[in-house]
Amino acid sequence: MSPSKGKIPLIVLIILWSIMQFISLWALIYGKQWFERILILNIILLLFLIVFVYSRIIKPSVYDNIVKEKKIKDDSLHFKCPKCKGFFAVKKSKSIYDGPLKLTCPACGTIGTIPISPKLIIAKIPDEKSINTDFKCSNCGEQISIFTEGTKLFNKVKLFSCPCCNTQQPLKKI
Ligand SMILES: [Zn+2]
Ligand SMILES: [Zn+2]
Repeated sequence: MSPSKGKIPLIVLIILWSIMQFISLWALIYGKQWFERILILNIILLLFLIVFVYSRIIKPSVYDNIVKEKKIKDDSLHFKCPKCKGFFAVKKSKSIYDGPLKLTCPACGTIGTIPISPKLIIAKIPDEKSINTDFKCSNCGEQISIFTEGTKLFNKVKLFSCPCCNTQQPLKKI
């Protein structure tokens, strides 16, 4: 989502809220009997605004794909966590993926999502690699291997859904 596109619902909410202010003022002056109803609507709209802004602030991390200056020789995908700036890699067994992958950052443990087509960024990936942690989907059999680069592996890494068959069931650790 581009930043300008993401702001549209917020702008709409602010415009609606401003209109509500005019209506309530008008109601206060001319029709006191429905002023209360307008006030309730006003509060609901304000709550929507608060929830929307709050969800923007705490929205989960989105991991971007990484390409080193020199082409990486292995077949794993490398990511950088926007929260901890740690590097991690995902090695999958099948090539076709249908859905995003929601997982805890293998470096810091924050929950984030790898979109179907992540944005590519250029970064120097640390050479030091951690031990692997492996997962298997009980529905389609997809096996995903995860390791960190330059940092220790978080010991409670979880994959919340299978990006291969789209099953919304956490993958089993193997
Ligand atoms: Zn992290
Ligand atoms: Zn699966």
